[in-house]
Amino acid sequence: MLNNNEKKITPGGELLDIVRRVLAGSNDINPLHEPLFEGNEWAYIKDCLDTGWVSSVGSYVDQFEDALAEVCDVRHAILTMNGTAALHAAMSVLGIQRDEEILVPSLTFVATTNAISYMGAVPHFVDSSLPDLSVDTNKLRQYLGHVAQKRSDGLYNIQTGRKIAALLPVHLYGHAAKLDAIQELADEFHLPLLYDGAEALGCSFDGRSVFGAGEMTTLSFNGNKIITTGGGGAILTNSDSLAQKAKHITTTAKVPHRWRLDHDAIGFNYRMPNINAALGLAQLEQLPNHLADKRKLAQAYEKAFAECSFATFLSEPENTISSYWLCTILMHQASERGSALEMLNDAGYLCRPAWTPMHQLPMYENCPRMDLTGTEDLAARIINLPSSVTLGRALS
Ligand SMILES: *Cc1c(COP(=O)(O)O)cnc(C)c1O
Repeated sequence: MLNNNEKKITPGGELLDIVRRVLAGSNDINPLHEPLFEGNEWAYIKDCLDTGWVSSVGSYVDQFEDALAEVCDVRHAILTMNGTAALHAAMSVLGIQRDEEILVPSLTFVATTNAISYMGAVPHFVDSSLPDLSVDTNKLRQYLGHVAQKRSDGLYNIQTGRKIAALLPVHLYGHAAKLDAIQELADEFHLPLLYDGAEALGCSFDGRSVFGAGEMTTLSFNGNKIITTGGGGAILTNSDSLAQKAKHITTTAKVPHRWRLDHDAIGFNYRMPNINAALGLAQLEQLPNHLADKRKLAQAYEKAFAECSFATFLSEPENTISSYWLCTILMHQASERGSALEMLNDAGYLCRPAWTPMHQLPMYENCPRMDLTGTEDLAARIINLPSSVTLGRALS
């Protein structure tokens, strides 16, 4: 007869069983998110090599920008070398000044916060909450009511004396942030809105693309994102003047002219090379397939975790469509996550915790912040599961 100890299955072991069942027949090693090339990638890149148009100008840059703007339902897309450069350039376009504060979730990838630092500006960390893992708007409104003061030239932090110049929400793991509540808050406090949409290609909110919200949204096409250009990013906007400034500042602030070599500001060399844009255009053609397969995978995980007593699958918030860039579960007990991650990784399922929250990193630990207990609680319980497109496809 078995005694109780021998019968007891650990949460880690049960979790491994669930993931094994969903991903039955997958490879020995399952990374968090792998790229997939199966369309015109070879043809378009060969075309760049054959014609010599590999660098910072070329027809694929224009074609990819046009196609991207259409898919994202915005007027303009400006391609950049990576998502971090897109964030940096977008803040420069917004006119963010040294020593101004930018409200940003602590629950994000370090690139969001680094880009603020490149401006000489100061990240001011705000809390995140379920169901979208983005800005907790109610809590932020209350907080700003205490620490912020509206003056004729903008919003000020009365504790630091610095201007609060913008709000930078993140669409986390491919879930749409609450666009309406965020817009309402931004209007109330006269804050420009820049969204980090690096993980959000394919997301919609209330039947519309998330990319029309705010002043601008940035994307990333890093190798682990929904589609990739090797390295790459973009700035999306509906504003003609912001788009024009973004294109100017990312191309060394060169004054357009047939032969004159003239620059009228300190610009960046942040344009995406044509060879990367060629890859991007081919990948964008595959986006509907990628999104459909990712959705299939998310649904399989969701079903498998429905009966689980110690972890909850993170489903798309109501009235939204998620890209499910990463499939996420929340452990009910933070204390059980370490052993679960260890068992999953030992078995070749390269699951990952959330990023360490920004306010806990040494270079950002002294930045201004509101109460971040929501962030700390979520960050301690998140597990991201293998989420590659191929895993969803293997289910059919
Ligand atoms: C990937 C990512 C970025 C940065 O993109 P890079 O292209 O790697 O520079 C920024 N923010 C978030 C939330 C990301 O996931």
